[in-house]
Amino acid sequence: MALIRSRNRELFDRARTVMPGGVSSPVRAFGAVEGTPPFIRSASGAHFEDVERTRYLDFVQSWGPLILGHCHPEVLDAIGSAAQNGTSYGAPHQGELDLADRIRGLYPGADQVRFVSSGTEATMTAIRLARGITGRSHILKFSGCYHGHSDGLLVSAGSGAVTLGQPSSAGVPAEIAALTHVLPLGDLAAVEALMAGSTDRFAAVIIEPIPANNGLLLQTGEFLQGLAELCRRNGTLLIFDEVISGFRVAPGGAAERYGITPDLATFGKVIGGGLAVGALTGSTESMAHLAPEGPVYQAGTLSGNPLAMAAGNRTLEVMERDGGWDRLETLGAALEARMLPLIEGLEASFQRLGSVFWLGLGSSTAPRAAEQIPYAAKDLYRQLHAGLLARGIYLAPSAYEVGFLSTAHTTDDIEQLSVALAELLPQILP
Ligand SMILES: *Cc1c(COP(=O)(O)O)cnc(C)c1O
Repeated sequence: MALIRSRNRELFDRARTVMPGGVSSPVRAFGAVEGTPPFIRSASGAHFEDVERTRYLDFVQSWGPLILGHCHPEVLDAIGSAAQNGTSYGAPHQGELDLADRIRGLYPGADQVRFVSSGTEATMTAIRLARGITGRSHILKFSGCYHGHSDGLLVSAGSGAVTLGQPSSAGVPAEIAALTHVLPLGDLAAVEALMAGSTDRFAAVIIEPIPANNGLLLQTGEFLQGLAELCRRNGTLLIFDEVISGFRVAPGGAAERYGITPDLATFGKVIGGGLAVGALTGSTESMAHLAPEGPVYQAGTLSGNPLAMAAGNRTLEVMERDGGWDRLETLGAALEARMLPLIEGLEASFQRLGSVFWLGLGSSTAPRAAEQIPYAAKDLYRQLHAGLLARGIYLAPSAYEVGFLSTAHTTDDIEQLSVALAELLPQILP
């Protein structure tokens, strides 16, 4: 038989000659799982299909935005109708204030909204705003939390200790990284000690209140409450980065779940319904520091894009009308009920909040900080990922990325995943 190069392989080879790594965002290259990424040609509901006509059950859902699944008919309709009236104006339109109103109605402390085009822009702007409001320069973040790829946030700690930020990317000047302090998640005493030594230095503390970019590292309410209290005492702004958790784990995100109103919050993913949107919110007083009202500059050619506003508006409208969050909780609970007995006695942990889930490999104890994820996780996950892919199930191509359920997923889909994992996990894990 002649050696047939697959169509996916062919496209990936071509892609690598015209785009670095063949992709528009690094993890998509399958480097961490050492495979060839399927090139997608179409998607619908909980599934997508690649150029070889292989159909996959998709638990990535574009990394979170597609809370209603791929190609929800009402979202497509909203985008189509909006497009008929123009794809971009660079001028105000009602779609923006409709989505702003919806966000205000659902998220605690969101008096005003500034729309941007990505989560990265949202967090970058929130930091600048916090610095503008407080007149301070230093910020604190937590290792394992991802806040997009702006210079000051692409910083991680050395192992565990209180350190000045080390850039986690080439091209980030040490001078900029030095303004970002990094601490391990969950260690309130470390935050207190850092702040005690420098009462007027910190403009902001930024955290994913539901850390979901390095596994799912669920924090205690006490830690988050304590953080809010320390910020209040030090005149430091608390920024909740809810780019994943916002309008996903509850209508009011982690703020609602934990009963904490942050000073500023950032959004992306779900609020764009699959199109490019980010946003930041805060009190009217805080947001008044942004241009054109205040001196903190920020702007965007495609900000408040009418198609994206339409997709976001319709997505949230459908979620509210159809009790989407309740449905996702039911589905998530069903997955959890299947998973927990499955991993019993195995070196694995299963974490879930609403429709966000993560299977941690290599230890039966659920990690609470990035430093606790076992080194073996990566290699174990590579084997699991290949086995799932061969069974038509698409999980994120990295051990550190969470899975997402959409309202398009069914209990049958959960069963399909569970059956595959029941087969694969005992083969892979000690
Ligand atoms: C995805 C993500 C970002 C960055 O958003 P982009 O739209 O990819 O720029 C920021 N923060 C968190 C918590 C995210 O998950």
